[in-house]
Amino acid sequence: MLDAMDRDMDDEPRVKRNIHEKVFVNRSVTLENIKCYGFDMDYTLAIYKSPEYESLGFEQMRDRMVSIGYPHEILRYTYDPSFPTRGLVIDTAHGNLLKVDSNGNILVCSHGFHFLKGEDIHNYYPNKFIQRDDTDRFYILNTLFNLSETYLYTCLVDFFTRCNRYTNLPKGFRHGDLFMSYRSMFHDVRNAMDFIHDTGALKEQTIKNLEKYVIKDPKIPLLLTRIKEVAKVFLATNSDYNYTEAIMKYLLEGHPTPGSPKKSWRSFFDLVVVDTRKPLFFAEGTVLRQVDTDTGKLRIGTYTGGLQHGTVYSGGSSDIVCELLLVKGKDILYIGDHIFGDILKSKKRQGWKTFLVVPELSRELEVWEQRRNLFEEMKRLDGFLAEFYKHLGNDSQECPDIRAIKTRIKVLTYRMDMSYGQMGSLLRSGSRQTLFASQLMRYADLYSSTCINLLHYPFNYLFVAPPVLMPHESASDFAAQDLPNHSVMMNTY
Ligand SMILES: [Mg+2]
Repeated sequence: MLDAMDRDMDDEPRVKRNIHEKVFVNRSVTLENIKCYGFDMDYTLAIYKSPEYESLGFEQMRDRMVSIGYPHEILRYTYDPSFPTRGLVIDTAHGNLLKVDSNGNILVCSHGFHFLKGEDIHNYYPNKFIQRDDTDRFYILNTLFNLSETYLYTCLVDFFTRCNRYTNLPKGFRHGDLFMSYRSMFHDVRNAMDFIHDTGALKEQTIKNLEKYVIKDPKIPLLLTRIKEVAKVFLATNSDYNYTEAIMKYLLEGHPTPGSPKKSWRSFFDLVVVDTRKPLFFAEGTVLRQVDTDTGKLRIGTYTGGLQHGTVYSGGSSDIVCELLLVKGKDILYIGDHIFGDILKSKKRQGWKTFLVVPELSRELEVWEQRRNLFEEMKRLDGFLAEFYKHLGNDSQECPDIRAIKTRIKVLTYRMDMSYGQMGSLLRSGSRQTLFASQLMRYADLYSSTCINLLHYPFNYLFVAPPVLMPHESASDFAAQDLPNHSVMMNTY
């Protein structure tokens, strides 16, 4: 029977998908069983143009810092997209920017634009490790909105470290009898970020220049139309109604089909929920209200009725979405770009199927393909190291000299990191994976550079996860002979 299956499959013409159009699988998902697709908006359906959008955020925050009293000299800084990577951690005690693995081991450390090496890192962090659960001290820059913030903080540390009016101290800077800590500077940056979001300054500029800041892809209405033929669709965004309306109108109403009546953006969805306050939305949530779509104002009182088509809701929770749409959590595929607010919480608290949009993946794949040789060499060196130790018995006195190999691995890691940008890849540093990569593998069932890539698959598709062997399984002769080894390279240093 298996032979027959082999023959049948050989006869089938193979669909070859371009790597940039692929959806990648951590855990198998049967699309046929998905009864409902949920979408986040910002950076998921609405992809912001990079670096224009980050530059806008950076400039607004930088100007805000000057208006609250920071020196005018910082106006000289402009946003440099080659520096920040998503997922970095700010150590608010010492002003350092860190890239860490899933356990908090430090992979890269910078102070301003100065990258610290071995001894310097040990002076700050004796175990080259941080207790990242200490959220009071360490702040993870998880979202794409955080990129401009990451860069602004780096510029400030750079400025005060180099400006001779200020004295450098371990926890900040002194100027006369004034002390400014790295921590207070971090809070000022955070407040500037909240300021540009809460006052609507960033949104106002975005809406005024939609073509400059938002990618308008005609495949988005096509994707939503196709999905709606086979399942329910909802939008759950933290943005407010007026902003959501402007963005979705631009994305969905600008491609009228000749001869057919103009379709409202709201008709692409069975349910639209704004002001969701994710991650709270995936827990107790907030009061569900109706939005008056004429005025953008909320109706008072809690909404208690059934689902009304074309109605927009504000707040609520993931449980309410399930009730209104009459679906169970396991039947939902939720598509978002925020590893914590969209993916980790919907998976951990509600058991939803998850699809992470990683816009950086296109560039990551490009570099990976170009620099694959460096990674292959690193793997060979790992093999050499293993060989050195393999023949040692338990009574061996021999101490292999592996310094040259370790130095070479460091050089290769550096070269590889630099091919991605100054802070390296979003997903790895040499052969070690970042915290972001480990969360992606753990919580995202599927991931891709854009949700549009779902269009390259039929909606009854079975996304099958590659079998991943544990080290003891791949070490056994039986496993090595009979199963393909897809296990990822383990952290060895
Ligand atoms: Mg988002």
